[in-house]
Amino acid sequence: AVRTGTTDIEPSLLTITRTMSPKELPPSSKLLFGRNFSDHMLKVRWTEASGWDAPSIEPYAPLSILPSATVLHYAQAIFEGLKAYRNPNGMATMFRPDKNMERMNISAQRLALPTFNGNALIECIRQLIALDRYWIPKEPGHSLYIRPTLIGTNGTIGIQPPNEALLFVICSPAGPYYPQGFKPVPLYGTTEYIRAAPGGTGAYKLAANYAPGVIAQKMAAEAGYAQNLWLHGPEHYLTEVGTMNLFVALKGEDGVIELVTPPLDGMILPGVTRDSVLTLARNHVSGKKRLAGLPEKLKVSERPITMGEVKAAAETRRLVELFGVGTACVITPVERIGYLGSDVVIPTGEDGMGPLSKPLWTELTGIQTGEIESEWNFVV
Ligand code: PMP
Repeated sequence: AVRTGTTDIEPSLLTITRTMSPKELPPSSKLLFGRNFSDHMLKVRWTEASGWDAPSIEPYAPLSILPSATVLHYAQAIFEGLKAYRNPNGMATMFRPDKNMERMNISAQRLALPTFNGNALIECIRQLIALDRYWIPKEPGHSLYIRPTLIGTNGTIGIQPPNEALLFVICSPAGPYYPQGFKPVPLYGTTEYIRAAPGGTGAYKLAANYAPGVIAQKMAAEAGYAQNLWLHGPEHYLTEVGTMNLFVALKGEDGVIELVTPPLDGMILPGVTRDSVLTLARNHVSGKKRLAGLPEKLKVSERPITMGEVKAAAETRRLVELFGVGTACVITPVERIGYLGSDVVIPTGEDGMGPLSKPLWTELTGIQTGEIESEWNFVV
């Protein structure tokens, strides 16, 4: 099922055309997520006849595609999101780019778009980041958000596997998610729409999964909530928070804290941050790497959890905390959930982070910024 044509992405063929009009990196205090883009972009064209063309780094510029390009009609589009950080010693790193390449290929296969050698694309992205490295803001907590995208571009409006495609990568400097300390957010438990369904496409990072979510987000905002919480089925299973995975911590009958995240049942996007949090928590439990601050005893579960269970735990004071996890924010604590007309209140720690999220956040961001050495960091 691998549709790479005759040639794969070949980093040794990469050409670089530098911009003639480099832009100024906006002051870090003015960085709003996704508004500014670095000077260059990576492009790799694919055709069914000859596979992946030579990759090129070019000035950031509009794309030229036909109005009949299938991406514009049938959403033949997938994307990824990862970050590059600048270490205290000036070195640039990317956080677990292999995981994003793996997921991008799985998404590509789901849409019958061409797949590719993930390591080859990482090498091309590495060269893009090396060229635009001064676009990684220097201030602590800042990063460069990297957005690889793959679209079907053939200009015949039939619904079929595209025989032409374009992979491109753009980069956007990003400020810290919490410039003034952690701020727990209120969520609106969406019961009017679902994000994904069994057998559907929720587990893939398809552009088509996101457009229908905008109205749910708008509804949440209009009701005074920061984001929406995607619920599923008549049982109102918790699935994801806006564009983040979620974790719930609750105290069991035996007093042991259980850290729960919904299982990868086909409706959940397999987040890189989700996987990282699970790995850190499990390494703590197994003793492979204990994390200061995490409860001595901990149970880590990937299992379904309903709003009924969360509400009951809140009412019996067994709910410890609830938080979203994703590349953009790393960890977002939640303070309450608007659910069927009233608010379920969730405990939050003194500085906005709870007893599990705080040590997990400290470890994760320590790794990402290079303060803690880890095999998860890919040196640019
Ligand atoms: N769920 C959805 C729907 C998302 O769009 C994202 C962001 N990619 C996530 C979860 C979090 O995934 P990651 O940790 O890989 O950013």
